[in-house]
Amino acid sequence: MTEVISNLQDRFSPLPWHKDLWQTFNDCIDTQRLPHAIIVNALEGVGAEHLAHALAYRMLCSQVDKGVACGQCSGCLTLKAGSHPDFYRLSPEENSKYIRVDQIRALCESVVKTSQQGGWKVAIIYPAEAMNIAASNALLKSLEEPEPNTLIILVSSRLSAIPMTIRSRCQIESLGIPSAAIAQQWLSERLEDKQVNISELLDMANGQPLLALDYATGSGFENRQQVESLLDAMRNSDETPFAAAQACQKYTPEDLIAWILSYVHRLMVGELQNNLNPALFVFLDKLIKAREWLLSGSPLNTQLLWEELFIEWVQIFQARK
Ligand SMILES: [Zn+2]
Repeated sequence: MTEVISNLQDRFSPLPWHKDLWQTFNDCIDTQRLPHAIIVNALEGVGAEHLAHALAYRMLCSQVDKGVACGQCSGCLTLKAGSHPDFYRLSPEENSKYIRVDQIRALCESVVKTSQQGGWKVAIIYPAEAMNIAASNALLKSLEEPEPNTLIILVSSRLSAIPMTIRSRCQIESLGIPSAAIAQQWLSERLEDKQVNISELLDMANGQPLLALDYATGSGFENRQQVESLLDAMRNSDETPFAAAQACQKYTPEDLIAWILSYVHRLMVGELQNNLNPALFVFLDKLIKAREWLLSGSPLNTQLLWEELFIEWVQIFQARK
């Protein structure tokens, strides 16, 4: 997923479905009412991180044209090269799920210094919910006593996981799922040479264009199809929960849960026309709890978790026979 986002070459202009929010940002900039901290909240495949980067370019570009960074000036080029002295990007370091307090402290120390290029300083914190408690507390001070000409953009896909103390000091902007027409148009421009059914792809990605692009271009699509085949096989008693759980060990737990969730959603929508099996609601609830548990970073035996979920999955369909 992140791979696709970083491969989108044109990161200095917003994506088509960001238009309204982009206009809001430009209005704020034009009237000098840009808040010092913004949370951009959206499902991961909607491109909140992309939008945050486009805004960073916009703030650091010296030749903004019609509200969008030029992509050519020295500000844009140094940002593109990853060496802009007034741009900071904080994410969990390798092998960690968290943004640590010392990363935030280093950021706060840097932003109090005068900007090296004499303009704005921009920081992106992604994903913002990865800050642990100590990190959030360290950031609070910067939010309470904002530096002039400094913009902190927090990118989030789980707003509720960000402490209220942080949320209340930021302007919160949410990006919804784009209309199918806009998303399909954007995808068809990028997938011209691929033999894919774009509408089906977008359905699989629950309307999230970047996720759909990831399915079509990365290994995500194939992996997901394998998991859906496993779920089908278990429904037909052609595969045991134990073997399926073992086969699923190779996938990222977060991806796996998302794929199963999406499969169950589609199954439920399909079943609405017939008689919806109430056991599916119970199963869905367990999946959501499992996802919460995973995202909380708590230690987990995934083999046991998948076995438990798959045993339940098989039972739903056995009970109906
Ligand atoms: Zn520029």
